[in-house]
Amino acid sequence: MSKIRVLRCRECKREYEPSMRYICEDCFGPLDVIYTSTKINRNTFANREKNYWRYIELLPIENNSNIVNLNAGFTPLHKADRLGEVLGLKNLYIKNDSVNTSFSFKDRPAGVAISKAKEFRLKHVGCASTGNLASATAAHAAKANLPCYIFAPSNIEEAKIAQALAYGAHFIAINGTYDDANRVAAQIGDTKGIGIVNINMRPYYVEGSKTLAFEVIEQLSYQVPDHLIIPVASGAMLNAICKGFEEFQELGLIDDISNMHITAAQGKGCAPVVDAYKKKSDEIVPVEHPNTIAKSLAIGEPGDGLYVLRRLKQFNGFAEDPDDNEIIDAILLLAKTEGIFTEPAGGVSIASLKRLVENGSIDKDQMVVCYVTGNGLKTVEAITHIIPKVNIVKPDIEVIVNMIR
Ligand SMILES: *Cc1c(COP(=O)(O)O)cnc(C)c1O
Ligand SMILES: [Zn+2]
Repeated sequence: MSKIRVLRCRECKREYEPSMRYICEDCFGPLDVIYTSTKINRNTFANREKNYWRYIELLPIENNSNIVNLNAGFTPLHKADRLGEVLGLKNLYIKNDSVNTSFSFKDRPAGVAISKAKEFRLKHVGCASTGNLASATAAHAAKANLPCYIFAPSNIEEAKIAQALAYGAHFIAINGTYDDANRVAAQIGDTKGIGIVNINMRPYYVEGSKTLAFEVIEQLSYQVPDHLIIPVASGAMLNAICKGFEEFQELGLIDDISNMHITAAQGKGCAPVVDAYKKKSDEIVPVEHPNTIAKSLAIGEPGDGLYVLRRLKQFNGFAEDPDDNEIIDAILLLAKTEGIFTEPAGGVSIASLKRLVENGSIDKDQMVVCYVTGNGLKTVEAITHIIPKVNIVKPDIEVIVNMIR
């Protein structure tokens, strides 16, 4: 019996046989993977290998031989006592995906989508990327021995382009925004039969990000946190984390989650979802020219934006949009208090957390999980103008001894 029962339209609930279909024929809604029910308890996962494939019963791969495993996932849930002290929180955790295999959370959705591409016997894969998906897709494609095509705006950080090229991907740098790159990727993917992980493989792709919920729950010994702070670009990850919490609740692995609060975090300069939520609007106004140092979050027309708004309503939500200066301050604050160096997307999470404490949305005793989703080494240029200049000195002890206080 197959593990996936159906693909179901998120809007009209029409059900489809599992296939490469990704949009509902009737209403153009996105499709979600629905599983055949399985028997799972807390012990099911306990002794498995420490990567996200430990949740295989809840991931959409039918045959384990198709798994493309780079050992991503099961990243640290870091108890952030020093940062907590600075912010005034007693129970703060950082989910540190900056140390994932290709140094962002995107290894989760990309690895699942590439494995599914293998299961579908596709000959080529690719993605539309704001930066991190490029390297995550390219790395898994390399391991799967599949040619990989990346479509990304040309202005993303140099390290992210270099990393994807190092894994052997073809890099198509578009002179335009992410939304331009996304449109090109969608058309080329369909005409050339390429498995574009975040477009025509999307129902499978998003499943990988649920593991960000499963791991946190396991790492908290099955307690339900009070707050989750989640950075948002397309909104796929936030939505998937919610689906993950719901699936564990339906399996009876955790208590009621309806009192949990979820915060969507975006950078000012590209915050279409936060803007809509703050205006109490159900309409997302696209940002035509994103302008934020959080380039990995710079999606002007977020595909899952409306679903993020629904999730925020469902989960007593908040939304914050820190500006570039707040983001940089937050990157340095996290680095200097917790020894975690994140890229601007992680700075967006931390800066949003700081705002929420300051405006009284979070109490000091509440349990908070802040998702830090990417690594600072990929975006060094974001902070070079802020950090001190390093003086070069002769290897002369007499001189250097006077520099040590
Ligand atoms: C892509 C990305 C996000 C947001 O993911 P979405 O699923 O598009 O909302 C967050 N953080 C980092 C570091 C990313 O690369
Ligand atoms: Zn539909």
